[in-house]
Amino acid sequence: MIIGGGILGCSIAYHLTAMGETDVVLLEQHKLTDGATWHAAGLVGQLRSSRNVTRMLERSVELYDRLEAETGQAVDWHKVGSLRLACSPERVLELKRLTTMAKSFGLPMEIITPTKAQELFPLMSTTDVVAAAFLPTDGYIDPASVTQALARGARMRGARIREDTKVTSITVDGRRATHVHLAGGDVIECELVVNAAGMWGLEIGRMVGARVPAIAVEHQYLLTGPIDEMPKGMPTLRDPDHLVYYKPDGQGLLVGGYEPDTLPFGESGIPVPFQRQLLEPNVDRFAQLAALAMKRTPVIEQAGVRSLINGPIPYSADADFVMGRASELDNFYVATGFLYGIAAGGGAGRMMAEWMLEGRPSLDLWPLDVRRFAFHHTTRHFMYPRAVELYGHHYKLAAPGSEHVTSRGVRRSPLHDTLRARGAVFGSRGGWERPTWFAPDGVEPVDHPSFERPNWFDAVGDEHRAVRTRVALVDQTSFAKFEISGPGALAAVQWLSVADMDKSVGTVIYTQLCNERGGIECDLTMTRTAPDTFYVVTGAAFGAHDLGWVRANIADDGSVQIRDMTSARAVINLCGPLARDVLDIVSEDDVSNAAIRYAHAAEITVGAAPVLALRIGYVGELGWELHVPTEYAAHVYDVLRVAGERHGIADVGYRAIDTLRMEKGYVYWSTDVTPDVTPWEAGLGWRVNLTKGNFCGRDALVAQRERGVTQRLCTFILEATAYPVGGEAILVDGNVVGFTTSANYGHTIGKPIAYGYVPIEHATRTDFVIEVYGYGHRATRHDGPLYDPTNARLKG
Ligand SMILES: Cc1cc2nc3c(=O)[nH]c(=O)nc-3n(C[C@H](O)[C@H](O)[C@H](O)COP(=O)(O)OP(=O)(O)OC[C@H]3O[C@@H](n4cnc5c(N)ncnc54)[C@H](O)[C@@H]3O)c2cc1C
Repeated sequence: MIIGGGILGCSIAYHLTAMGETDVVLLEQHKLTDGATWHAAGLVGQLRSSRNVTRMLERSVELYDRLEAETGQAVDWHKVGSLRLACSPERVLELKRLTTMAKSFGLPMEIITPTKAQELFPLMSTTDVVAAAFLPTDGYIDPASVTQALARGARMRGARIREDTKVTSITVDGRRATHVHLAGGDVIECELVVNAAGMWGLEIGRMVGARVPAIAVEHQYLLTGPIDEMPKGMPTLRDPDHLVYYKPDGQGLLVGGYEPDTLPFGESGIPVPFQRQLLEPNVDRFAQLAALAMKRTPVIEQAGVRSLINGPIPYSADADFVMGRASELDNFYVATGFLYGIAAGGGAGRMMAEWMLEGRPSLDLWPLDVRRFAFHHTTRHFMYPRAVELYGHHYKLAAPGSEHVTSRGVRRSPLHDTLRARGAVFGSRGGWERPTWFAPDGVEPVDHPSFERPNWFDAVGDEHRAVRTRVALVDQTSFAKFEISGPGALAAVQWLSVADMDKSVGTVIYTQLCNERGGIECDLTMTRTAPDTFYVVTGAAFGAHDLGWVRANIADDGSVQIRDMTSARAVINLCGPLARDVLDIVSEDDVSNAAIRYAHAAEITVGAAPVLALRIGYVGELGWELHVPTEYAAHVYDVLRVAGERHGIADVGYRAIDTLRMEKGYVYWSTDVTPDVTPWEAGLGWRVNLTKGNFCGRDALVAQRERGVTQRLCTFILEATAYPVGGEAILVDGNVVGFTTSANYGHTIGKPIAYGYVPIEHATRTDFVIEVYGYGHRATRHDGPLYDPTNARLKG
């Protein structure tokens, strides 16, 4: 049951039927394309910063190449290529990086000269253009026609498409949507439902109690009058420095763009009716873009403006698509929030059909997965200001480490104000304000992100060294925490985990939870706090995801309960070689190595507070994660600070955590490890216990071990000063063989570090090149962690 007859809904219907499902019904309240699809500009670009999202978009192009022949419906597909301009040295670096990335994804993108770019797009002035990139397989398509073609393809294979059929409510029974109610009184029973309602996605989600962060903002483009001797076959053009894009449109041009002050649409609900409707053009707001466009294409002045189109463009709380299965229900899917649904529609429909019929898409799409959102993302208060900010940044060049400025301060640790007073500079993650670094006396507590050495570099280095040589406090309250308990808890966690979870009470177990392909769905710790209770700790942004994975993969016979503990406990990480000296002063309990061994937990006192102390951490030093009932957090922090004064105890933020964990070889879920890679490939085979009995993914892991892996996660040291941040190309003999998944500066080893997967045939060599913003740097691959490979510092 597909709700919504825009390009997404029709593409899902097309792909469900292509995969053999014939019992497919699509419901559209008006006529197909009447939402946002009919007035889209129709540009189809493929390259994104994520390999899998790019692959998804490549599938759109593959489909558009054949759709007309297959369905007999003309789609007006122009595979004319796309140009992207760079007008500053930073943009050139970005372009080089994109081009290297594109090539490694198999896209034939090339850097070309401004002269060559002008030959392809003769209407532009190139006075300020430094370089351009050309991707010949991009193009543009007629949005309404391609949607009709997808609908026709779906109908040809048995899908029923009902126009003028509005969904008014949905019956939910337990965790399943069971019946869809239509205006006029009809009721249809449903097995799987997908919400492809674009900017109405929030309203449809509400019908079943699923929170869907889908909204809309105003987006404008102008159509010029006819241009004399309009060149034929011009590519599309993106000019990010001028915030505009172009598409040939008959005898004229279509010019759209992303201004900084767009307006949200439908803040108090989408008006009823809203069918095939445009918004009042905002000439004043578009004037800033028009002025920039005139500079690039002075011909606009002679051609004049034929019309200015203002339409609501679907958007989400983080400007990326909202796809996958809603965590609230077992059979309710979402495919909304598509800012560029014409480009993505073909491939996204395929991914959704796989998600619905096979349980997951063939590509890991975590950056687009609905489970990346938390409650606050779905509120209007958060979404609208953030959407406007993100929209205005669409073409802006953001240096690494840039933070959003709107919708901040939503979730704050009890230590927030204390840490601010101590110079904390905050970043946001999962809505939490988290200290990223602490400005020392005399340093302004403000980020100045840079493509090279950012202003926090030295302060982070000091924090890093404080952890390595003294003792530090890190506020890690933002960790997501939940408890799995009940008579079936042990069996449940044994099934979920690759590690053996049947350890004595008090053991902290680091484990991966794999899918049936052996891919890593979660990377977390579980502490056995009672024979039938496991306390789970995972990343701030992964709570909904990991909780959803656990819920979906345990028995629903009532033998297991899950309790979210995130708000119940603050977390203070006390770490560094002198950490025990500090803890000893403030605890009434024995915190010696004999009393609390590495990877073990104990209930202890800290000051007057009851604390669950987990002897584990992410920085590679002696330390405890102190899980504290929230109201005691400020007290615990105070007593630790006072006790640590004599050792020069430091406040440390998340940027130092990252530099520390990279030296120690610790991975980060969503970049270094994902559902696409297995523990064998990620170097986490030491966590896999094949003798403990069956568990999710075991068969696939056994088979892969017998076959052998085809890639391996490697650690590299860059042999020159550079500031990689992840996403850099890894080269052997001039050919890209992989991409870095994480990168940062190792302040103890004094060199930049990167992780990345390389094909197994290269995984034993040592000499590589890593390309940072277009410059290749010699990089040496190292076996094992760069810091404390024997774990002596953890266990002492
Ligand atoms: C000015 C402008 C230019 C754009 N240019 C481009 C571009 O160049 N390239 C690109 O890729 N994208 C572009 N886009 C974005 C593109 O339009 C969208 O990404 C795409 O149309 C989204 O498709 P959709 O199917 O998700 O949503 P929609 O097309 O809005 O479809 C959702 C459908 O759900 C239906 N519906 C809602 N509620 C109900 C209900 N209760 N019952 C039944 N049906 C319901 C609606 O009537 C609607 O038809 C542009 C958008 C705008 C505004």
